[in-house]
Amino acid sequence: MSEKFQVVIIGGGPGGYVCAIRLAQLGIKTACIESRGTLGGTCLNIGCIPSKSLLNLSESFQKAKELSKLGIEAGKVKLNLKKMMQNKDKAVTGLTKGIEFLFKKNKVTYFQGTGRFKSSNQISITDNKKKETIIETEKTVISTGSEPVSLPSIEFDEKIIVSSTGALSLKIVPKKMVVVGAGYIGLEMGSVWSRLGTEVHVVEFLDHITPGMDREISKEFMKILKKQGINFHLQTKVKSIKKKNKGAFVSTTNKDGKNINFDCDIVLMSVGRKPNTKNLNLEAIGVSLDDKKRVKTDKNFETSIKNIYAIGDVIKGPMLAHKAEEEGIAVAEIIAGQSGHVNYDIIPGVVYTSPEVASIGKTEEQLKESNKKYKVGKFSFTANSRAKALDETEGFVKILADEKTDKVLGAHMIGPHAGEMIAEMAIAMEFGASSEDIARTCHAHPTFSEAVKEAALSVDKRAIHS
Ligand SMILES: Cc1cc2nc3c(=O)[nH]c(=O)nc-3n(C[C@H](O)[C@H](O)[C@H](O)COP(=O)(O)OP(=O)(O)OC[C@H]3O[C@@H](n4cnc5c(N)ncnc54)[C@H](O)[C@@H]3O)c2cc1C
Repeated sequence: MSEKFQVVIIGGGPGGYVCAIRLAQLGIKTACIESRGTLGGTCLNIGCIPSKSLLNLSESFQKAKELSKLGIEAGKVKLNLKKMMQNKDKAVTGLTKGIEFLFKKNKVTYFQGTGRFKSSNQISITDNKKKETIIETEKTVISTGSEPVSLPSIEFDEKIIVSSTGALSLKIVPKKMVVVGAGYIGLEMGSVWSRLGTEVHVVEFLDHITPGMDREISKEFMKILKKQGINFHLQTKVKSIKKKNKGAFVSTTNKDGKNINFDCDIVLMSVGRKPNTKNLNLEAIGVSLDDKKRVKTDKNFETSIKNIYAIGDVIKGPMLAHKAEEEGIAVAEIIAGQSGHVNYDIIPGVVYTSPEVASIGKTEEQLKESNKKYKVGKFSFTANSRAKALDETEGFVKILADEKTDKVLGAHMIGPHAGEMIAEMAIAMEFGASSEDIARTCHAHPTFSEAVKEAALSVDKRAIHS
C-alpha cells in the first residue's frame, strides 16, 4: 500500500521547503520531494548563498589589499582560491543540513528523488538508484524552480562556457572573462572574479544594465562598476561563441555594426532562467502552462487542475527566493483554510555588489508611464556622516512619493548596506507610510539609514545635510 499524505510538495527550494514547514506547523501531513540530494534548491546550493559567500570573501580580499592606504599594514595579501571555495561550500552545507533538521523538527517527510505525476493524486518518486516509490496525496504543490538558459546554439559545458553554477566553482582565477547579459547575476559574478584579478567584459544587448531597475540608479551603478574595472559593451550582440583548445572566442557586433571580438578563458552566460516543468508529466494530467512555459495559476496559486498548486520560480513574477518563500507560506495557509496573501507591489530586489543596490515599489519610469504625479526626494551618501567616517560615500537614496497624498510609491538606493536598509522601506510601504512618516521617524546617529530619513525629508525639500 502506498503511503498517503494530505499535501506533497515537489521541489525543496525556498518556495517548497518553506511551504512544507508552514503546512506541518498547521497540522497537515506533508511530504517534500527533492531530486538534488540536498534541500534548499537553487538558492542555497547554487544561487543566493554561494554567490553571497563569494561576494563577501572577494570583497574582503579586495579591501585587505587596500588596507595599507588606511594605515593598517598586515603584510602581503595572497589569494587561496581553494580555501575560499571551501569556505563557500561550508556555508552551503551548514544551511542545507539545517533545513533537513527543520524538516525533522516539524515532522515533514523528506523523499530524496525525482517526483513525477502519475495522476493528479499519485506521485512517483525515482531515487538515484532508479528505485520507484509511489505515494498518494490529496493536494500537491509544484515548486520545481528554474534553470539557466543560454542563447540558441550555445551550450553550457560548465568549464569554459559556464552558467552561474559553473562560475561559482571555477578552480583557477581566469585571466579574461566575458559575461553575456548585464542582469544582477552576471554583475554579481563578474564582480567576484574582477576582484580576484580577472579582466571582466560585460556584453549587453540593451543600452543599459540591470533591466527594470530605476534608470538613474542603474546609470550610477554602471559608473561605479566601471570605476572598479569592469568593462561594459552595451547595445552589443553576441554573434557566435567558439570554444578553442583553451578558452573561447566570442564574436559580437555593436549598434554601429562594428565587430568586437574577445579571446577569453571563460564565458559566463547570464541571459536568464527558464521554469523547470520538464519531466513532471504535467501535460498528461492537464496542468496548463503560459506562453513562457511557466505553470499558470490563479490568485490562490491553484493551477488549471483542482488541488494542484504552484509557487516560486516556476510561476510568473520575479525569480527571487523571498518571493518564492512568501508564496510558499501563502499557499500553505490557503490550503489550511486561512487567507494567505502576497503583496506583489512590495517585493524588494537587491544586488549584492559593493556598494549594494536595492529597490522596492515603482521606478520613476513606471510612474511616468502610468501618468502618476509624483515627488522625488534624494540624498547622497557623500553627506551621510557614517558613510564619511567609513569612507564609503558612493551612491544615494531616492524616494518617490505621491504628489497629492505623499504616500511612498517606490524607493531605490545604491550605497553601503542598501540591501539591509531596504527593509525599512518595505515595512513603511506595507503600512502605507507617507514620506513624512519616514522623515519624522527618529533614526540613530551616525547610521547609513539616516540617508533614508534625509531622502524622505528631501521629498518636501527640507533635507538638513544637503
Ligand atoms: C547565482 C544566483 C544567485 C541568486 N541570488 C539571489 C539572491 O541573492 N536573492 C534572491 O532572492 N534570489 C536569488 N537567486 C534566485 C533564487 O535562487 C530563486 O529565485 C529561488 O531559488 C527560487 O526558489 P524556488 O523554490 O522557486 O526554486 P528552486 O530554488 O530552483 O528550487 C527548486 C528545487 O526543485 C527541485 N526539483 C526540480 N524538479 C524536481 C522534480 N521533478 N522532483 C524533485 N525535485 C525537483 C530542484 O532540484 C530544486 O532544488 C539567485 C539565483 C542564482 C542562480
